[in-house]
Amino acid sequence: MNTAMYLRKSRAEELSDTVEETLKRHREILTKYAIQNGLTITGIYEEVISGESLYARPKMLELMEAVEQGQYDAVLCMDIDRLGRGTMSDQGIILETLKNAGVKIITPRKIYDLNNEMDETYTEFETFLARQELKAIKRRMQRGIRKSIEEGGYLSNAPYGYRKTTQNKHPTLAVNEEEARFVRLIFELYVHQSMGCQQIADTLNALGAKPHRAACFGRTSVLKILKNQVYIGKIVWNQKSRIRHGSREVITIKNSEENWTVVDGIHPPILDPELFRQAQAIRASRSRPPVKSEKTENPLAGLVYCANCGTRMQRQILPNGVQRLLCPRRGCMASSSLPLVEKTVLNNLKARLGEPVLLLEPLPSPRETADTSLLVSVETQKRTVLHQLETLHDLLEQGVYDTQTFLSRQNALNQKLEELKQLEFKLKSISHINYYKISNKTIDFFSFYWNGSSLQKNRILKALIQKIIYRKQKGAPASQFLLDIYLKPFYPS
Ligand SMILES: [Zn+2]
Repeated sequence: MNTAMYLRKSRAEELSDTVEETLKRHREILTKYAIQNGLTITGIYEEVISGESLYARPKMLELMEAVEQGQYDAVLCMDIDRLGRGTMSDQGIILETLKNAGVKIITPRKIYDLNNEMDETYTEFETFLARQELKAIKRRMQRGIRKSIEEGGYLSNAPYGYRKTTQNKHPTLAVNEEEARFVRLIFELYVHQSMGCQQIADTLNALGAKPHRAACFGRTSVLKILKNQVYIGKIVWNQKSRIRHGSREVITIKNSEENWTVVDGIHPPILDPELFRQAQAIRASRSRPPVKSEKTENPLAGLVYCANCGTRMQRQILPNGVQRLLCPRRGCMASSSLPLVEKTVLNNLKARLGEPVLLLEPLPSPRETADTSLLVSVETQKRTVLHQLETLHDLLEQGVYDTQTFLSRQNALNQKLEELKQLEFKLKSISHINYYKISNKTIDFFSFYWNGSSLQKNRILKALIQKIIYRKQKGAPASQFLLDIYLKPFYPS
């Protein structure tokens, strides 16, 4: 029987002696066993490096190839753990390959014929797996992935223009010519026609191109393609880091571009590198670093909704610094000047609430809650009224009250209860806005507002306003927009 000997150090032996010593000892044991049992050793596979994934085990890969070519009848190893180490999928590959080729696994303890004893063998493998720490498996998987990428493999979902394939057992990409034409078109339009990302997306959609994981192309998906070095045959990894925060939470952060690792992939490129380089130069000249200071925060953030589609309106800063308020859905609603909308909102508040208006003042510390003593007294009063309502029924039954008196009393109590409920709601609504409390003195709201930072302005507006519905006709003059401003329930509407 033509037999391959597979040698590999196991986890349990890792701390004792060196790989060489272990493998030498195992080789002697297995050679003795082969001679005693009439096995002809025609190949020896010694795994010297301690990679954990199948792709990091070159000797195992060699062995699998030889098995596929029908070179062996059996594989001799110390125990099945030697074969089984690695990820679940690796085991699947190894077992499948051995089974399909009708190759037996021989260990000094037991002979496994995968075609006859599938169940038993799998049971053993499963037991073995159960013993493994899940953590260790995960760690090995990550190392395997890293190794595979280092060798030019591609493991994620195929980017637009490609489909997944394998090459010498390495996961990689093959060109999807149908889509690749559109990838080239994107770069052509960007570099030679000076089109913007949105315009390119519109063009692609008009031509019937469909992205992999969305209904149609948008500005960001086009930008992602323009940035992706996969199209010139490169593979980028280490773009993100995962950081453990506390005991459970894991935060993913983007690494800065100089910390990325770029390697040559084994997949074919779609683009001419020169065209890609030109696109990057244009991209660098067009992009502006995001300005993130409190001064430029949007005072209307989270408050204004598009009347057409119901989406929250966003702030856009034009290259000249002008701030616009727009619906993120392209072409849905005409945009407006953000400061102009803000001014209109404030004028509307002034007209509706009068001046001075605000019965709220900022708390010294955001943790302090609003007038809880007032809330407690309201709750006590409410309970009293409820109790009175109950006894009312008793008094009617006992004949103390006639029906007429009962009804008028009941009516008065219900009215009082309603008032208390409203007051309670008002107090609760305000107390959950931590930044303000009910003040005895009134303050000049508008001078207070305009002197605040954008963040403070936003907080003030959110304390007063539930939502604002925005609408504007296409081509209407700058100030011709309509706002429906819904105040919080405790303010007059
Ligand atoms: Zn809209």
